[in-house]
Amino acid sequence: MQLDDSDGTLPTDTLAARLIGSDPVAAVTIENTHMTANGRPWSDDELTAVSDVCRGAGVALHMDGARMWNAAVATGRTPAEIVAHADTVMCCLSKGLGAPVGSLLSGPADVIAEARVQRHDMGGAMRQAGIIAAAGVVAIETMVERLAEDHERARALAEHLADRFPGSIDPSTVSTNIVCAAADALPVDVLDRLAAGGVKAGMVGDATVRFVTHKDVDDDGLARVCAALDEIALGGGSA
Ligand SMILES: *Cc1c(COP(=O)(O)O)cnc(C)c1O
Repeated sequence: MQLDDSDGTLPTDTLAARLIGSDPVAAVTIENTHMTANGRPWSDDELTAVSDVCRGAGVALHMDGARMWNAAVATGRTPAEIVAHADTVMCCLSKGLGAPVGSLLSGPADVIAEARVQRHDMGGAMRQAGIIAAAGVVAIETMVERLAEDHERARALAEHLADRFPGSIDPSTVSTNIVCAAADALPVDVLDRLAAGGVKAGMVGDATVRFVTHKDVDDDGLARVCAALDEIALGGGSA
């Protein structure tokens, strides 16, 4: 089941009540950074609070850290500090870090042994994976620090959006590489018009237009996005 995590965190009182309830809970999963909360990273206090509740109830805490390195760069903490609260963590080498493929799961040896069996059962076995793992090593060794650039461009994009389409986003909530704008503050055909200008954005649900900055969006790319938004704003046709 899902608790209300719309602000990017979990309400610890609701969580605690759920964990001592009659239905057994196998594990609690949190997402860091939290995509629909504008890629918001969890603060250390928030992680501590949730992990205290889980430990108190004897329930494992799993961190979906697909963008864990974005959280680290945005908060100035080390990955080790960020995952210290969790029992298991997964992270992606293929998102902001730019590897062609690959995700990692880490946790206690017995959990990983079981995960290997389950991965195999689900068809996840891969032969000679070392070749693509090499790209993952490059990602970890050389692609982490530059995430700060993605974060700066995402904030600049959010400011431009807020300027051109008031009410679409609060730029102060953007601290990583994800920009979630309110669709009802944008023209209904904004995605088509952006696509015509060579800009790819997408819907998350039916109320959110999502932009993601990454290593292939440089300052010129950001300028193109802003120019496309200017043209759309001038063209009118708001919903
Ligand atoms: C991409 C993503 C995943 C899954 O990653 P895989 O590469 O399919 O293993 C899980 N959680 C979040 C939040 C993601 O963004």
